[in-house]
Amino acid sequence: MNITGGCFCGDLRYEADIADSPVGVCHCRDCQIFSGSAFRTSCAVAPEKFRLTQGEPKYFDKTSDSGKVRRMMFCGNCGTHLCSMPTVEEEGSFVSIRIATAEQFAELTPMAELFCDSKVSWMPDLQNTFQFAGMPEAQ
Ligand SMILES: [Zn+2]
Ligand SMILES: [Zn+2]
Repeated sequence: MNITGGCFCGDLRYEADIADSPVGVCHCRDCQIFSGSAFRTSCAVAPEKFRLTQGEPKYFDKTSDSGKVRRMMFCGNCGTHLCSMPTVEEEGSFVSIRIATAEQFAELTPMAELFCDSKVSWMPDLQNTFQFAGMPEAQ
Protein backbone atom coordinates (compact mmCIF):
# COMPACT_ATOMS: atom_id res chain seq x y z
CA MET A 1 0.00 0.00 0.00
CA ASN A 2 1.22 3.49 -0.83
CA ILE A 3 0.75 6.24 1.68
CA THR A 4 1.15 10.00 1.45
CA GLY A 5 1.53 12.46 4.25
CA GLY A 6 3.18 15.54 5.58
CA CYS A 7 3.66 17.95 8.44
CA PHE A 8 0.97 20.10 10.03
CA CYS A 9 1.86 23.34 8.20
CA GLY A 10 2.21 21.64 4.79
CA ASP A 11 5.86 22.55 4.10
CA LEU A 12 6.99 18.91 4.09
CA ARG A 13 5.35 16.15 2.05
CA TYR A 14 6.34 12.50 1.63
CA GLU A 15 5.20 9.29 0.04
CA ALA A 16 6.01 5.73 1.02
CA ASP A 17 5.32 2.14 0.07
CA ILE A 18 4.43 0.33 3.29
CA ALA A 19 3.41 -3.02 1.76
CA ASP A 20 4.42 -5.88 4.08
CA SER A 21 5.56 -3.41 6.74
CA PRO A 22 3.78 -3.87 10.06
CA VAL A 23 2.43 -0.93 11.98
CA GLY A 24 3.54 -0.75 15.60
CA VAL A 25 2.77 1.30 18.65
CA CYS A 26 5.89 2.29 20.61
CA HIS A 27 5.76 2.98 24.32
CA CYS A 28 9.45 3.85 24.80
CA ARG A 29 10.30 7.00 26.74
CA ASP A 30 11.83 8.66 23.66
CA CYS A 31 8.55 8.24 21.75
CA GLN A 32 6.54 9.54 24.69
CA ILE A 33 8.71 12.64 24.92
CA PHE A 34 8.98 13.30 21.16
CA SER A 35 5.23 12.87 20.69
CA GLY A 36 4.21 14.58 23.91
CA SER A 37 1.79 11.71 24.35
CA ALA A 38 1.47 8.20 25.75
CA PHE A 39 2.84 6.42 22.67
CA ARG A 40 3.74 6.85 19.04
CA THR A 41 2.47 4.87 16.03
CA SER A 42 5.09 4.01 13.42
CA CYS A 43 5.74 1.84 10.41
CA ALA A 44 9.26 0.71 9.52
CA VAL A 45 10.17 0.50 5.82
CA ALA A 46 13.37 0.00 3.85
CA PRO A 47 15.01 3.40 3.19
CA GLU A 48 14.29 3.27 -0.56
CA LYS A 49 10.56 2.91 0.14
CA PHE A 50 10.33 6.36 1.73
CA ARG A 51 10.60 9.51 -0.36
CA LEU A 52 10.42 13.13 0.70
CA THR A 53 8.51 14.86 -2.11
CA GLN A 54 8.43 18.45 -0.86
CA GLY A 55 10.27 20.74 1.53
CA GLU A 56 13.54 21.10 3.39
CA PRO A 57 13.41 19.20 6.67
CA LYS A 58 15.47 19.72 9.79
CA TYR A 59 17.23 16.85 11.53
CA PHE A 60 18.10 15.86 15.06
CA ASP A 61 20.39 12.91 15.79
CA LYS A 62 19.77 10.81 18.87
CA THR A 63 21.22 7.56 20.16
CA SER A 64 18.59 4.85 20.29
CA ASP A 65 18.14 1.99 22.72
CA SER A 66 20.17 -0.25 20.37
CA GLY A 67 23.14 2.15 20.55
CA LYS A 68 22.68 3.22 16.93
CA VAL A 69 22.33 6.87 16.01
CA ARG A 70 18.92 7.61 14.59
CA ARG A 71 18.27 10.75 12.56
CA MET A 72 14.93 12.35 13.35
CA MET A 73 13.33 14.29 10.50
CA PHE A 74 11.02 17.13 11.40
CA CYS A 75 9.59 20.37 10.07
CA GLY A 76 11.57 23.42 11.17
CA ASN A 77 8.48 25.56 10.79
CA CYS A 78 5.71 23.69 12.64
CA GLY A 79 7.78 21.06 14.47
CA THR A 80 5.92 17.98 13.21
CA HIS A 81 8.08 14.88 13.36
CA LEU A 82 7.82 12.74 10.21
CA CYS A 83 10.25 9.84 10.63
CA SER A 84 13.52 8.55 11.96
CA MET A 85 16.19 7.19 9.63
CA PRO A 86 19.62 5.59 9.83
CA THR A 87 22.74 7.80 9.67
CA VAL A 88 24.64 4.91 8.07
CA GLU A 89 22.79 2.60 5.72
CA GLU A 90 23.55 -1.06 6.31
CA GLU A 91 21.84 -4.44 6.27
CA GLY A 92 18.49 -4.09 8.00
CA SER A 93 18.44 -0.28 7.92
CA PHE A 94 14.96 1.17 8.12
CA VAL A 95 13.03 4.40 8.10
CA SER A 96 10.41 4.55 10.81
CA ILE A 97 7.50 6.64 9.56
CA ARG A 98 5.35 8.40 12.18
CA ILE A 99 2.20 7.35 10.42
CA ALA A 100 -0.20 9.64 12.25
CA THR A 101 1.13 12.13 9.65
CA ALA A 102 -0.27 10.02 6.76
CA GLU A 103 -3.63 10.71 5.13
CA GLN A 104 -4.33 6.95 5.31
CA PHE A 105 -3.69 6.81 9.09
CA ALA A 106 -7.24 5.70 9.95
CA GLU A 107 -6.83 2.56 7.82
CA LEU A 108 -3.52 1.52 9.39
CA THR A 109 -4.08 -0.83 12.29
CA PRO A 110 -1.21 -1.69 14.61
CA MET A 111 -0.19 -5.34 15.00
CA ALA A 112 2.30 -4.94 17.85
CA GLU A 113 3.08 -2.88 20.91
CA LEU A 114 6.78 -2.28 21.56
CA PHE A 115 8.63 -1.24 24.73
CA CYS A 116 5.69 -2.19 26.95
CA ASP A 117 8.14 -1.97 29.90
CA SER A 118 7.60 1.80 29.86
CA LYS A 119 3.94 1.75 28.84
CA VAL A 120 1.71 4.04 30.91
CA SER A 121 -0.16 2.11 33.61
CA TRP A 122 -3.59 3.46 32.63
CA MET A 123 -3.61 2.06 29.10
CA PRO A 124 -4.89 -1.50 28.51
CA ASP A 125 -3.30 -3.78 25.91
CA LEU A 126 -4.62 -3.10 22.41
CA GLN A 127 -6.84 -5.75 20.89
CA ASN A 128 -5.31 -8.13 18.34
CA THR A 129 -1.73 -7.02 18.92
CA PHE A 130 1.43 -8.72 20.13
CA GLN A 131 3.10 -7.17 23.19
CA PHE A 132 6.88 -6.89 23.46
CA ALA A 133 8.74 -5.71 26.57
CA GLY A 134 11.27 -3.91 24.37
CA MET A 135 12.19 -4.10 20.69
CA PRO A 136 11.32 -7.41 18.93
CA GLU A 137 14.42 -9.28 17.75
CA ALA A 138 13.54 -9.49 14.05
CA GLN A 139 13.45 -5.82 13.09
ZN1 LIG B 1 5.48 22.00 8.93
ZN1 LIG C 1 9.79 4.39 20.73
